[in-house]
Amino acid sequence: MHQFTIAELTQGLRRKDFSSTELTQHYLDRIARLDNTYNSYITVTPELALAQAAAADKRLAAGDAPALCGIPIAHKDIFCTTGVRTSCASKMLDNFIAPYNATIVENYLAAGVVMLGKTNMDEFAMGSSNETSYYGPVKNPWATDCVPGGSSGGSAAAVAAHLAPGATASDTGGSIRQPAALCGLTGIKPTYGRVSRWGMIAFASSLDQAGTLTRTAEDAALMMNDLASFDPKDSTCVERDVPDYTADLNNPLTGLKIGVPKEYFGEGLNPQTAAHVEAAIKVYEKLGATIHSISLPHTHLAVPAYYVIAPAECSANLSRFDGVRYGYRCENPKDLADLYKRSRAEGFGDEVKRRILVGSYALSAGYYDAYYSKAQKVRRLIKQDFVDAFTQVDVILGPTSPSPAFAFGSKTKDPVAMYLEDIYTIATNLAGLPGLSIPCGMVDNKPVGLQLIGDYFAEARLLNVAHQFQQSTDFHQQTAPGIE
Ligand code: GLN
Repeated sequence: MHQFTIAELTQGLRRKDFSSTELTQHYLDRIARLDNTYNSYITVTPELALAQAAAADKRLAAGDAPALCGIPIAHKDIFCTTGVRTSCASKMLDNFIAPYNATIVENYLAAGVVMLGKTNMDEFAMGSSNETSYYGPVKNPWATDCVPGGSSGGSAAAVAAHLAPGATASDTGGSIRQPAALCGLTGIKPTYGRVSRWGMIAFASSLDQAGTLTRTAEDAALMMNDLASFDPKDSTCVERDVPDYTADLNNPLTGLKIGVPKEYFGEGLNPQTAAHVEAAIKVYEKLGATIHSISLPHTHLAVPAYYVIAPAECSANLSRFDGVRYGYRCENPKDLADLYKRSRAEGFGDEVKRRILVGSYALSAGYYDAYYSKAQKVRRLIKQDFVDAFTQVDVILGPTSPSPAFAFGSKTKDPVAMYLEDIYTIATNLAGLPGLSIPCGMVDNKPVGLQLIGDYFAEARLLNVAHQFQQSTDFHQQTAPGIE
């Protein structure tokens, strides 16, 4: 059953080839048998999953179940789940049982989707390799000596190892698309405001957005149908109808204008990765698209601007973890100041502390104008580059990340090398645009991702463009060694 895509599983459930209970049990057995190799889950919830599956089976038997009813998925451990530990992969929240569900968790519950458990990630979603998790690193199913990408590495490894047919994830600067690329998956980060952030533990609120990791674009479209919603509890959520994201999947691409930014093919890009992206461009030409060379002139400023804005927002967001209200509290504090200091010093990992320090510095009086205000101005210029580009083209295409999965420890000593992993994905978050990654080839037996960026709220178009590629290629059907 684990070979099937979500689309195929929905058919199988309706044909009664298997029940949701059987399907859920099958995935739980696989997780129990295989996940000690990958470490993709922080928490597995078998009892809850089987109860939800039994309820889904009843709805399926009644005949009017929603599309994804009975499909088991995993949630990134950044989304609050009632009664289940929500750790954000931090010692700080190791003991935190959320008292409510994130809106997206609630949306999937309402649709009869079953939760298998919560996936591993970089601590507070800060990282590109999943090496900063309090629960240990996640291994890439394609090469277990390599990282799965981050921060949604647990969700990516779980789907790539067929320990879930799909998973939720979050993307602040690339955390869905880069792990999708490194694990050979389809990952979509929707437009900022398309999906509720309520109950998603905040890292950088103006950049964070929830999305999905699946094997195909069709599955991503199915998952998007329940993920996207208007939520009055999130003031940045946009009140706008949710289309059926599967409706346009089969539209032909004749006349589609694809922009290829010259800045995405410069120094630092692995030449074999570049060759696969070039080959993907040829596929699109055959499908009837026209290719246009474009320029996004402020691309080189995206990583520096992000590493002022994201830490600045994180330093404010993470101030709530003070040892008083919830989460980790140090032992025997001398006084209140000692309680704050030691709870935070002992509860947060190094990368999180680095971000809080950088962010507090950038926001401090005297430096605010030089760093934070400047970064916001740069952000505006980056957004304008995209707005100008989308007057000429429908979709922007390039690599997702500069190279395939790298070995554990190879970038941990050099934060800047790690930060450059997101050089092609970060600008999308700064501009608030939707982006998607699909597999487009292999380098040294490891997958390579193709990134597609769309105009605001053009998710249906992006999924159509991705689906058509997957109808003409089989990269998305390849599975990691040992994963039958
Ligand atoms: N790798 C980037 C960072 O560490 C992006 C993380 C993310 O998208 N959550 O900030």
